[in-house]
Amino acid sequence: MQLASEMYDEYGNLIIPRNFGRFHFGRQELIQIFISVAVLTAAFTIVLMGSVPWYFAFGVAATVSLTGFLLHELGHKFIAQRYGAWAEYRMYPTGLLMALILAFLGWLFAAPGAVYIQGRISKKQNGLISLAGPATNIIFGTAFIILWLAFPSEGMWSSAFNWIGVLSLFLAGFNLIPLGPLDGKKVFAWSPAAWVLAVIVTAIPAAIGYGFI
Ligand SMILES: [Zn+2]
Repeated sequence: MQLASEMYDEYGNLIIPRNFGRFHFGRQELIQIFISVAVLTAAFTIVLMGSVPWYFAFGVAATVSLTGFLLHELGHKFIAQRYGAWAEYRMYPTGLLMALILAFLGWLFAAPGAVYIQGRISKKQNGLISLAGPATNIIFGTAFIILWLAFPSEGMWSSAFNWIGVLSLFLAGFNLIPLGPLDGKKVFAWSPAAWVLAVIVTAIPAAIGYGFI
């Protein structure tokens, strides 16, 4: 992979590609995003179907796959591309297969894939790219908890809002763990203060959703 920052013309001038800093998708990437969303939706539906009707399980699963997974990954991709980096999503076929197999055993597990990023990026930019994913989960999770609080007696709808909100915030919390390949490690390396703030704004709506507050 040739980096944008390494391309020069015959006079030694930096060549800026026309798509530098723009948000765009690759064809292979779009196919893999579609497969990942479909498999995740199926896996989540299978796990949730044990306790609720299938259409309720499917609705929650599809919403969480689209907002919790897809927008999380697009958050990383969008900010990375804004900084001029190459950034494309690639699925992990093994992770997707595991998600399906474990779903039949009643376990919710997902390592569907990741956005791969290449380019000259500072520690701060890397921190912000990493934070963008959990930030989308925090925004949607909080919005769904607010919907749940606003419509407490709408039966199944209220439950759906609560489930989607709590699952989204769980995804934010999990990805903020400052270990291994998780987003939290890069956020913490850039700014411990930003990391603490992200954990707090995840924990408060999550605690409300769980009924702890
Ligand atoms: Zn992430």
